[in-house]
Amino acid sequence: MPSTTPRVRFAPSPTGMLHVGGARTALFNWLFARHTGGTFILRIEDTDRARFNPDALADLTESLRWLGLDWDEGPEAGGPHAPYFQSERTELYRRYAQQLVDQGHAYKCFCTSERLEQMRKAQEGTSQSGYDKRCRTLDAGERARLEASGAPFVIRFAVPPDGATVFTDLIRGGISYPNAQQDDFVLLKSDGFPTYHLANVVDDHLMEITHVMRGEEWIPSTPKHVLLYERFGWAPPVFAHLPVILAPGGGKLSKRHGAAAVSEYRAMGYLPEALVNFLALLGWAVSGDEEIVPRERMIAGFEIERINKTSAQFNRDKLDWMNGQYIRQCDPARLIALCRPLLEQAGLLGPEVTDERLRFVMKLAQERMQALPDCIEQSRCFLADDIPYDDAAVQKFLRKEGVRENLEALRRRFAAVEPFEPKALEECVTAYLEESGQPLKKVVHPLRVAVTGRAASPGIYETLCGIGRERVLRRLDHVITRECAA
Ligand code: GLU
Repeated sequence: MPSTTPRVRFAPSPTGMLHVGGARTALFNWLFARHTGGTFILRIEDTDRARFNPDALADLTESLRWLGLDWDEGPEAGGPHAPYFQSERTELYRRYAQQLVDQGHAYKCFCTSERLEQMRKAQEGTSQSGYDKRCRTLDAGERARLEASGAPFVIRFAVPPDGATVFTDLIRGGISYPNAQQDDFVLLKSDGFPTYHLANVVDDHLMEITHVMRGEEWIPSTPKHVLLYERFGWAPPVFAHLPVILAPGGGKLSKRHGAAAVSEYRAMGYLPEALVNFLALLGWAVSGDEEIVPRERMIAGFEIERINKTSAQFNRDKLDWMNGQYIRQCDPARLIALCRPLLEQAGLLGPEVTDERLRFVMKLAQERMQALPDCIEQSRCFLADDIPYDDAAVQKFLRKEGVRENLEALRRRFAAVEPFEPKALEECVTAYLEESGQPLKKVVHPLRVAVTGRAASPGIYETLCGIGRERVLRRLDHVITRECAA
């Protein structure tokens, strides 16, 4: 284990929107850096020009910022190892590839794509696979002739023919790969751009990365990297491969299971702290079965040794539940700021809605929301003039004998009660119950449906007050004349 302060990196390729799996990798690296007082680096692995997506970069940095995963070195932040875009470092990779060629650990391969295709075809149905190493043993004259002709070439790594490449993964323990099964992989492509393997190793070394924490799908690449470290004469970093995230019911998590990108969760009204908490528990636990873990506690308790080997499951119900918990903890002013545009869009913020009123209504809605857009349904009965009536609730609670008389009596009392506030409203209803000798349920359930349109709402007295006298009376009139049993 290196004794220096840890330096870790998140090294995405900007080919698409930041996926929740990538965000989990970023988060674990960030937590480790913050736990150890180390450095978190963002490096953009953009050497695959064919797959480069210009929108992906903005999505990536915005998503990381939204999640609160700030980087100490990287794009915009700068740092001692700039540039942090691999596409701006290609000269460096060419130099290192040439160094390996000069030392006999890599070679130029002039095979055309047609020849490689023929080779692959000929290998079909045989036990052979991978590059047949023809250019590894080209005689010097032939090589000189091809070089002089300007024929395009790639640089391939010369994998040692025997032995095994061994490394220790902090999560999985010892891993060993026979070299004979390793292809002479490409380091530098014919367009002069490096492959992932070369650029990744050169940068992890130059940027003094101490721990490489990445998804388990990269395990097959790690022996290649370890061979490269050996040939360059560099000490490899510590490796830790994170368990895969499975979709509910197994299989790879993808669009099919709803959103996959962080920005989509943001658009759907999840709070960043809820998503962070949820992602942190995909393969890690601070202790036992603690579910709501504040960020500070995550940082204090984060240890690579506590990361699971077994795959983690993406359980959307759990995320929804967690989001609800975080909405309840949210500072009211922040929640209002987040919900205001949604309410405006839904046409619920007329000029008569004062800030004070919005605060009161949102306080009630906050208790019942699971995602931000729920603020619309949770506040509609308070903010809209007309509300939809739920058929089932109407049938169950309003079409009953005696309901009409109760609502008429309450309407008369509500017209006079002063002030129109929870305490006075409660006294008013209680007095009516006593006088008429009826149980609370019998009177309050129909009243709730009459003024909110639904069978569930926050506490009835707060709800009445939130709706306001004028609308309460109007809705009671509507229900008495149109919905109640005669
Ligand atoms: N660029 C790789 C990716 O897209 C980086 C993998 C690694 O962390 O080594 O995930």
